[in-house]
Amino acid sequence: MCSYWIETTKNLEKEYKHLSDDIDVDVCIIGAGLVGITSAYYLSDSKLKVAIVERDSVCSHVSGKSTAKITSQHNLFYDYLINSYSHDFAKKYLDANEEAAQRIKDIIDKEKIDCDFSVQDSYVYAYSSEELFDIEKEVSAVKSLDFPCEFVKEMPMPIKTLGAIKFPNQAQFNPRKYALALCDIVTKKGIEIYTNTVVTDVESSDSGYIVSTANNSIKAKYVILATHYPIINFPGFYFLKMYQSMSYAIAVDTKCDLPEGMYINSSIPTYSFRTTPYKGKKLLIVVGADHKTGEKIDLENAYKILEKKAKELYPQSEVLYKWCTEDCISLDKIPYIGDFSSIMPNLYVATGFKKWGITFSNVASKIITDKILGNKNKYENTFEATRLEPIKNRDELGNMVKESIYSLVINKLKDSPDTLDDVGMDEGKIIEYENEKVGVYRDTNGKCYFIKPVCAHLGCELSFNNVEKTWDCPCHGSRYDINGNVLSEPAIHNI
Ligand SMILES: Cc1cc2nc3c(=O)[nH]c(=O)nc-3n(C[C@H](O)[C@H](O)[C@H](O)COP(=O)(O)OP(=O)(O)OC[C@H]3O[C@@H](n4cnc5c(N)ncnc54)[C@H](O)[C@@H]3O)c2cc1C
Repeated sequence: MCSYWIETTKNLEKEYKHLSDDIDVDVCIIGAGLVGITSAYYLSDSKLKVAIVERDSVCSHVSGKSTAKITSQHNLFYDYLINSYSHDFAKKYLDANEEAAQRIKDIIDKEKIDCDFSVQDSYVYAYSSEELFDIEKEVSAVKSLDFPCEFVKEMPMPIKTLGAIKFPNQAQFNPRKYALALCDIVTKKGIEIYTNTVVTDVESSDSGYIVSTANNSIKAKYVILATHYPIINFPGFYFLKMYQSMSYAIAVDTKCDLPEGMYINSSIPTYSFRTTPYKGKKLLIVVGADHKTGEKIDLENAYKILEKKAKELYPQSEVLYKWCTEDCISLDKIPYIGDFSSIMPNLYVATGFKKWGITFSNVASKIITDKILGNKNKYENTFEATRLEPIKNRDELGNMVKESIYSLVINKLKDSPDTLDDVGMDEGKIIEYENEKVGVYRDTNGKCYFIKPVCAHLGCELSFNNVEKTWDCPCHGSRYDINGNVLSEPAIHNI
């Protein structure tokens, strides 16, 4: 099954052509997710010649698989920001997201986009007394930033809680309806969108950059790397500063009337809830079962856990759609937005949204396009991508280093105890086969699919995801299908 947003908008999708010539543009945007498309929108009234190049189809990756809450409530975060950064920084983070949410609404109103947008209150809730203490601290922190949050004891959805922090007047929408409408608007204003076109390299040239695809090249003065995870490793070194985390999602017919509101619990594991209009009623969307991409854990029942969560609230729940996706998390928990590197001017990046990139994609697009258009943006320095701050998340840094050492060196040297006979039906394993380590998936008919289980990005050993039947990289989150075709960046090439 596929993302509810993608599955139900196939009829709205336009055919965009594949790039089959060399072209010359002012701005080349790589990636047609919300960062790429919104950036195109902000450039569409300028005189600049702009092209978007997309590996797959429009809004078919993270943006098309998100929970799509439009909010500045990024779980419990503001007390952390005030204490780890400063009051001023926390205020800028909040204001940047509030203004972005308002801009998204303004675009929807101005362009009359039908994307199931609705204003909603957003809640982070506590199960235990320790969590309640954190909620109370967050309420004080957010109030100190002059935002009208509230502490509440009860919420409209029948979720058991000791208390919650409510952000009023947040919003939700169907991200793919929004993105497809923006694509229509920008193409009518002369912006070209090329789909099914993989960018393989970006190199500096005398006049700017040469963006290469398999058979063609694009000359551009400005390049926006809107590829979710940057596809170029050097000199940005983002692979040393971020990891990816996966989540699973279900859309459920609860057979009940559903109340308004968007919800997420404050502790790990998190479960996120929202509704969306569906055939005259509402579906419940439940997202969670997070884990680091490529982590070797028992994933078998990720969707079952979500179904159980839905049934605890609404026992008649029937799952209609299921999907999964991943997002980049920077080690200091702040997105990277702006110059890719101080030695590559006019090459921009937007990444590390920590699963809050619906609003942040607008923040990022505005900052980057303001830079291109020569406009001042007051948040330009707040999320600066070239920052060299001390790493705040030492635990995760330790995990990343350990995972990289294991996946790049130690696991590769270890022999696998398994042989082909040990691979069950519908199972994937790394085995020893003719003196080589081989990744094998055996389908439900017994047919085996073999790959070399080494990531094409930086060479880490892959692990098998039993829920999705994919080979995932534990170092940087690239993902491949059972034949070794790339599903998710940063990898560019198949294995
Ligand atoms: C489970 C989950 C739930 C989330 N829920 C929320 C939420 O409720 N609210 C919120 O604010 N945020 C949420 N987020 C985060 C948000 O969805 C993402 O941060 C955001 O959509 C990222 O947008 P993007 O444009 O950077 O990436 P994408 O949408 O992934 O776009 C990147 C595009 O680049 C293309 N690309 C990659 N490599 C190449 C290449 N080599 N050549 C050409 N094209 C390429 C890809 O095909 C893709 O289309 C969630 C994230 C997850 C994982």
